[in-house]
Amino acid sequence: MANFYTDNLSIKHHLHHPLMKRIVELRERNFADKDEFDYAPFDYEDAMDSYEKVLEIVGEICGDIIAPNAEGVDHEGPRVENGRVIYAAGTKENLDATVKAGLMGINMPRRYNGLNFPVVPYIMAADMVSRADAGFENLWGLQDCAETLYEFGSEEQRQKYIPRVCAGETMSMDLTEPDAGSDLQSVMLKASYCEKDNCWYLNGVKRFITNGDADIHLVLARSEDGTKDGRGLSMFIYDKKSGGVDVRRIENKMGIKGSPTCELVFKNAKAELCGDRKL
Ligand SMILES: Cc1cc2nc3c(=O)[nH]c(=O)nc-3n(C[C@H](O)[C@H](O)[C@H](O)COP(=O)(O)OP(=O)(O)OC[C@H]3O[C@@H](n4cnc5c(N)ncnc54)[C@H](O)[C@@H]3O)c2cc1C
Repeated sequence: MANFYTDNLSIKHHLHHPLMKRIVELRERNFADKDEFDYAPFDYEDAMDSYEKVLEIVGEICGDIIAPNAEGVDHEGPRVENGRVIYAAGTKENLDATVKAGLMGINMPRRYNGLNFPVVPYIMAADMVSRADAGFENLWGLQDCAETLYEFGSEEQRQKYIPRVCAGETMSMDLTEPDAGSDLQSVMLKASYCEKDNCWYLNGVKRFITNGDADIHLVLARSEDGTKDGRGLSMFIYDKKSGGVDVRRIENKMGIKGSPTCELVFKNAKAELCGDRKL
């Protein structure tokens, strides 16, 4: 019955920082959600109380489920079958537990079924998950790709994808390629617009993608013909339900083995532009 929140008094320091009052006010926009959602806080103390309660749940799941699973997950690791990633049994159990406890989309607005947490308690939760199993944090923590989608996606895209993340679907951020790592301006994966189908198609290879078989991907791709640098790149959303992306292999890493680091092949994968063209 370990609890990674209650057994670590120093982590609470972040929640009691003097700036939290202002952070909560800004996040809750003067507690405007209280009339619409019965679980929304009505003042600062109420908000702090809800963070405490959720962090205690995170601490319990970390102590009782994720940490005890960590060794088995590291031994078993994920594998690829028919282009799809199969997680280790413990990883599936960890994900189920966090989804059932409502710990996905933690900092997404309530209107998309999130908890609307500020970054501070979210990162405190991430800290505990990392302590339990750093590999699992790599995967669970990708829920913050939803933040990018929220920031740059259209309202239609927000409504389409963010509730799915809050319900437990996973995400990935597909940037790196065999010839584009630190120098992301060299990304080559091609995005072509098809007038007939009125949509974009992605073709190319991505490498080192954490949780590369995610349900929803954010993909950096070259949308502008004849360009060579960052000015020809745009961000796309790929939905696994559309098909067109296979996992070719998983890296054999020295640690965080439970987190699948994938090489992906995009073959005419249908995608939506996220934000403006040319970033
Ligand atoms: C476990 C893991 C998970 C990852 N997950 C993701 C993910 O989810 N999504 C994603 O898109 N990518 C992911 N990556 C890829 C990661 O972002 C890249 O590895 C990183 O950007 C570096 O690129 P690279 O490996 O091609 O190395 P390179 O860019 O080739 O760098 C190799 C070495 O050269 C050095 N170097 C590079 N450029 C310069 C320079 N101009 N001056 C001096 N030194 C330089 C670097 O510091 C490094 O030591 C992951 C990588 C790992 C290892």
